[in-house]
Amino acid sequence: AFETLASDFYGYENLLTDREKAFIADLRVYLESEVKPVVNEYWEKAEFPHQIIEGLHRTGTIGLGFPETAAFENSAVFRGWVALELARVDASVSTYVGVQNGLALGAIGVCGSDEQRAEWLPKLASGEVLGAFGLTEPLSGSDSAQGLRTIATRDGDNWVLNGSKRWIGNATFSDITVIWAKSAEDGQVKGFIVPTSTPGYTATKIEGKQSLRMVQNADITLENVVVPESLRLQNANTFKDTAAVLRLTRAEVAWAAVGVAVGAYEAAVKYSKERVQFGKPIGSHQLIQDLLVKSLGNITASIGLCTRVSEMLDRGEQRDEHSALAKAFTTARMRETVAWCREILGGNGIVIDYDVARFFADAEALYSYEGTREMNTLIVGRSITGLAAFV
Ligand code: FAD
Repeated sequence: AFETLASDFYGYENLLTDREKAFIADLRVYLESEVKPVVNEYWEKAEFPHQIIEGLHRTGTIGLGFPETAAFENSAVFRGWVALELARVDASVSTYVGVQNGLALGAIGVCGSDEQRAEWLPKLASGEVLGAFGLTEPLSGSDSAQGLRTIATRDGDNWVLNGSKRWIGNATFSDITVIWAKSAEDGQVKGFIVPTSTPGYTATKIEGKQSLRMVQNADITLENVVVPESLRLQNANTFKDTAAVLRLTRAEVAWAAVGVAVGAYEAAVKYSKERVQFGKPIGSHQLIQDLLVKSLGNITASIGLCTRVSEMLDRGEQRDEHSALAKAFTTARMRETVAWCREILGGNGIVIDYDVARFFADAEALYSYEGTREMNTLIVGRSITGLAAFV
């Protein structure tokens, strides 16, 4: 049965429908029993636990945002809670879902033709096809709206892609990668569904990451990769269309960041009741309570902000700057919160077995991916002043 989280202090989850609550209750059982027990081991090994992929898809977690693949009608607020629940257990797992569901399936859902959606969305939702999303390049991160160097050249009924990508999540094992490239014809950014078996496509794992160690990120090279026009996303004509995908995923990363804070906070509350110093649980010391309350304040404010930005999506009112503010705000609050929670655990706060060290390290990647805090801040700054600081 569904219970609101103690860390949802104002009971925002009560806004969900009974069907949505039942989904979350089932998801929690799955995550607690099948995912949580393996995450620390795989985080340390820097490997992705492929055995959880089938279950993540079976729960119906992927594809909730599109009528073709959602098991039931649901709200953006609910989908945000799903991102929070995943990240509350592990941020690498929420990132796997964010890539498969938000970026790969989402790019085709937002920018694909009806035929492309009908073909790919069910396969990505079921896990029959695993996807990735290749926008960032070695020489173009924050400036990818204008700085992409990967070029797509039209050749009859085909396109020929040349260039390189960096940081692409899930791309060491994806079956398809949505590649964003500048068209040699009109200079505009277009999207291509690239089967990873295509000659000229290679993906190499990025080693040595100290954040989101379970997530497999890749460097990709594209050497004369031939893609038919039928695999070009038919409704991706300029970077504005790419940004429409990112607007949705940024709002979900904002929710995931709250999940990371919640995961660390829950571990810190538990520890503060168990760990005894000066003859009493550390949770009875005033300074520890201060850290817990500040953490809960960050979480509560962030949930409120995320709830509203998701409601705006459901009402058709959400703009790029709205999701950018949510992402910039909640990732900054997450970063403060995981540091306070780490502090509460003292030395054990840097040991993987206590979970907080993993949340602490993983927070750094969420802070910078899907647009750094600085870039999301500048998107909001442009909106409120009418002046762009980044062109
Ligand atoms: P840079 O753009 O080089 O920025 C470096 C610093 O300069 C940052 O602090 C930035 O905020 C700052 N900066 C840059 N320009 C300005 C400016 N005008 N004003 C002020 N400050 C500025 N990309 C994908 O396409 N697909 C993925 O699946 C994917 N997954 C990722 C997973 C992880 C774990 C990570 C770390 C990254 C992932 N990325 C992915 C890439 C991610 O989106 C980029 O890392 C991010 O956009 C920042 O780009 P960059 O790392 O090149 O930093």
